[in-house]
Amino acid sequence: MSIQTIELVRGKDRKLYPAGGPRPAAEVERLRSLTHSLACGQGLSERAAQRALLEEHGVRRSTGIIHRDLAEYDCGGQFGRPCKGAPAG
Ligand SMILES: [Zn+2]
Repeated sequence: MSIQTIELVRGKDRKLYPAGGPRPAAEVERLRSLTHSLACGQGLSERAAQRALLEEHGVRRSTGIIHRDLAEYDCGGQFGRPCKGAPAG
């Protein structure tokens, strides 16, 4: 019998996640929603949203990922403004 140890890190939601692995789906969804709340709700640019994620939420994400999250997901204006990611036209 072997025992495998997995290093865990505690996420912002206080749940434990494997360190270094891909983010769990629920975490990905939470970050996507958070990104929209910054970009759509607060009107931040992608770059400003990236900085806010890092400085205010301790989350490091590339602008490419942020752009993709905004482009591929429509928050439907739930953060107070029309979604920046809404398809043009
Ligand atoms: Zn949005």
